[in-house]
Amino acid sequence: MIDQPYAYQRRELTEPDWRRFPGWADVTAAQWESAQWQRAHCVKNLRQLRQVAGPGLSEAFCADLERDQRERATMSMLVPPQMLNTMVPTADPGEPGFTDALYADPVRRYMIPVFSDRRADWPSHPYATRDSLHEAEMWAVEGLTHRYPTKVLAELLPTCPQYCGHCTRMDLVGNPTPTIGKHKFGLGRDDRLAAMIAYLKATPGVRDVVVSGGDVANLPWPRLEAFVTDLLDVENIRDIRLATKALMGMPQHWLGDEVRAGLERLGTRARERGVSIAIHTHVNAAQSVTPLVARAAQAMLDTGIRDVRNQGVLLRGVNDSPEALLDLSFALLDEAKIMPYYLYMCDMIPGSEHWRLSLAEAQHLQHRIMGYLPGFATPRIVCDVPYVGKRWVHQVSRYDTDLGISYWTKNYRTGIEAGDELALSREYPYYDPIYLLPSHGQQWWRDRDRGRAPELTLVP
Ligand code: SF4
Repeated sequence: MIDQPYAYQRRELTEPDWRRFPGWADVTAAQWESAQWQRAHCVKNLRQLRQVAGPGLSEAFCADLERDQRERATMSMLVPPQMLNTMVPTADPGEPGFTDALYADPVRRYMIPVFSDRRADWPSHPYATRDSLHEAEMWAVEGLTHRYPTKVLAELLPTCPQYCGHCTRMDLVGNPTPTIGKHKFGLGRDDRLAAMIAYLKATPGVRDVVVSGGDVANLPWPRLEAFVTDLLDVENIRDIRLATKALMGMPQHWLGDEVRAGLERLGTRARERGVSIAIHTHVNAAQSVTPLVARAAQAMLDTGIRDVRNQGVLLRGVNDSPEALLDLSFALLDEAKIMPYYLYMCDMIPGSEHWRLSLAEAQHLQHRIMGYLPGFATPRIVCDVPYVGKRWVHQVSRYDTDLGISYWTKNYRTGIEAGDELALSREYPYYDPIYLLPSHGQQWWRDRDRGRAPELTLVP
């Protein structure tokens, strides 16, 4: 046997025992597998977290969490029991060391962020913004982002069954937090969805629709089915992707009879029309892939849809090592039949510096995970460059590692650049976390903050 940097081995999935948590000691398997029970018992605040975890959760942790919610959080707390149960999967909350293990847990780090997780020096990059991908600027109609030539993103609703601390759509998705108010759609839901369908009928160049939110698992099934049926009736649509982190966060939803029967109807109609329907989910850590998640993914494939794919997010402290990424990919591929597809670099939203990696780190990780998985299942690490779109991390055009600025170009116009002659020759910047830069680079940013260094001049 040759000694390899990564040692592949199959690992059987396990559903951690939820009864180890004092608050769930009497919860039956039937309750656990009910989507209704899961929704009713989501953890939405510190009081509920204390009730579930019991006295093993330290006061220091609670104060840390409370401070984060007051001063930093861009997302309110919403953690389904299924997700909470995958944190510290083998630790007993009554044993010493439970809080330390929770602090270190990869799923906790992005689902229940605490103040001490964040950078004290640069909690946010100076160029971090709400709606950092400028999706609302590119709305063709409200909630329908037309950024790429042949594909659109339909944001059907602004809620999810779970809220991730690093959510890119923190501008729109979820409840307001003490520091972040949320954008509200102006049109009512049905008017918005009707306007989307009308736009797609009138725009034959679009062939691919990402049906997202939020998370489509929060739309009543009949409304989602009606929308996808309408999409299937649009002649030019060839690909439909349903975006739902809940396939992992609340697989009980996708295992429900109504949802499975409805997806089977959509799958049948799609095959008749020669259209592909796929589910895109969002799993960041191998421990989140449990037997229930695998069952839900299999149930989706059994309805006749084309595929279930994963779009994870690369996050420091969560999955920023080749081992973590390969363990995740193999758990998805081998045990749950979910295709590892993309790993996004964490977007430049406020408060995200402690999660973000530099471009160089992302390139290194891409290199380290090559060659272990089949090519079709090797996730591509991508940088979603504002005003550009997804680029593979090695597609950078030039890279100033002193100031931590990468420059990118593109080969298509977004929906707002019809008359922009420079759109295809301009370089678009993206920024590394400042605390990772050499000292003179960090100094440049500090000087800039104090008005002592010039603003960046980019090609207009
Ligand atoms: S599931 Fe997706 S849309 Fe919802 S909070 Fe998480 S990252 Fe945001």
